[in-house]
Amino acid sequence: MIAGLRATRGPLLNPLAAGGVDYWPDGVLVGDEHGRIVAVGAWDELAPRLGLDAAAVPRSAGLILPPLLDAHIHIPQHPIRGRFAEDIGADPPGGRLLASLEKNVFPAEGRCEGPAHARHVVADFLADTLSSGVIGGAAYMTVHARATRIALEQLPAPWSVGLVLMNGRCPEYLRTDEPGLAEDVAALARDFGRRLIVTDRFAVSVDTPLRKAGVALARRHGLRMQTHLDEQRAEKMLVEEVLYPDAGTYTGVYARDGLLDCEPILAHCIHMRPEEVDAIAATDASIAHCPVSNTLLGSGVMPLDTIRAAGISHALCTDVGASPTTSLFCEMAQFLKVHAGSSSTATPEEALRLVTVAPARMLGLADRLGTFAPGLEWSFIEVVCDSPVPATARKAILGGLLRMTEDDLGRWRQPDDPCASAVARLRDAGLDWGHDLAVLEADVRATATRLERRVRRVVRAGDVIWDSRGA
Ligand SMILES: [Zn+2]
Repeated sequence: MIAGLRATRGPLLNPLAAGGVDYWPDGVLVGDEHGRIVAVGAWDELAPRLGLDAAAVPRSAGLILPPLLDAHIHIPQHPIRGRFAEDIGADPPGGRLLASLEKNVFPAEGRCEGPAHARHVVADFLADTLSSGVIGGAAYMTVHARATRIALEQLPAPWSVGLVLMNGRCPEYLRTDEPGLAEDVAALARDFGRRLIVTDRFAVSVDTPLRKAGVALARRHGLRMQTHLDEQRAEKMLVEEVLYPDAGTYTGVYARDGLLDCEPILAHCIHMRPEEVDAIAATDASIAHCPVSNTLLGSGVMPLDTIRAAGISHALCTDVGASPTTSLFCEMAQFLKVHAGSSSTATPEEALRLVTVAPARMLGLADRLGTFAPGLEWSFIEVVCDSPVPATARKAILGGLLRMTEDDLGRWRQPDDPCASAVARLRDAGLDWGHDLAVLEADVRATATRLERRVRRVVRAGDVIWDSRGA
C-alpha cells in the first residue's frame, strides 16, 4: 500500500452531485494523510491500481456512505423531542402547532437562558446527532445571544446556528432583546461568520420592523436567514387574514420585508399557492422538507413534484423536537411513505440525495461534504446492515438503511390501506386529531425505534469522531 494512504472497504453508497447513486457491493474509499479523498470505487479495480493490501485495509462495520446533514433542527427542543405536541388535546383553537409551541416548546426554549443548562442541552444534542450519523446542518437556538454563542462554540464547523428573532405571540421571557440585537449579531458574526444564521421564528411571532432589522443585519454582515413558512392551514390563515392582510400571501410577507433575498432556508412550505412557488423559485431560497414533523403535527404533505418542477432546491430535515428522533433514516422512510401515492420522483436514491448532496449544497459545504469525490473530506459513516450484502443501490438504501421491503413501500400506494388513506386525508386537509393521526403516529414511532442506533462509526476528515463501541 502506498505510504500515507488509508482506506475502508465494504458495501459503499455514493450519492452523486450530478444526480443518481453509485453503489459497489465491495467498494473502497481511499484517503490521504491530510484526510482528503484520493479515490472511490470497486475494490477489484482500485486495489491493484493503488497497491491496496487486503490484509491491511479494514472492513467496514456495514454500509459506507457520506455523513448526513440536517438543514432544519431546533437545539433547545432536543430534550422534548417526540413530546412536542404532548397533552395538547383534541382540536385546539389555532391548530396543533400554535398550541404545542405555547404549552411545550416555549418553556423548553426559555430554560436555555441559563448557560449551564444551554451547555448541557448542546452537548446532548451533539452526542445524539453524531450517533445518528449527522455531522452538521442548520439549527435554531433561542432568542438568547449567550445560548447561541454556546451552541456555535460547542458544535463543529459544519453546523450553522440561528439566533432567533421573536417579539410577538410568545411569552415575555422569550422575546428578542431588540435594543441589543445589532450588537449581538455583530459580535456573533465577527466570531463565527456565516455559521451564524439570522433566524426569523415565523411571521406569527415576528413583526415587520423586527424582520426588517434582521434583514438589514444579515445584509450588513453577509449572513443568510432561515424561517418557517406555510406549515399549517390555521397558521396560514392567521398570517394572511389577521396579521398581514396587505401582504397578499404568507410568502408575500417575507418577500415584502426582504427576507426572501437573504438566501433563506424555508421550513415546510406545504400550503403554497402557485404565486408563492413562483416567488420562491425566483430567489436563492431553499426548502427544508420535514415529512415526520408534517405528519405528527397533522400539518399536511409538501407538494414535492411542484417544488421539483419549479427547480427549488430542497433537503430532508428532522425539525426535532417535532420529530421524536434525530435519525434522518426515519425521515427518508417517511419521505418515501407520504409521497408514495402521489409522486414518482420520491425514490430511495432521491431520499439519500436529500440527506447528503442536497443539504451540503444548500449549506455551502459541497466543496467538503455530501458525496465521495477526490479532494473532498475523507468523511463517512458506517451503518450496520442486515446480511447478506445488498446487490443494488435501491436494495442497499431501502433494505439496508431503512429496513423496508418493496412490499412495505407498496402498501403506501394502496388507497384502501389505513396508513395510505390517512396520508391522503393529511394531504387534502391536514389532520387535527383522531384515528388517522393515531395510526400515522404509531407507524412513525415504530419506524424511529427500528432505525435508531444503527450507525456504527462516524469519521470526519480522517478522524473517528464517534464510535458506537465507545458510546
Ligand atoms: Zn422548525
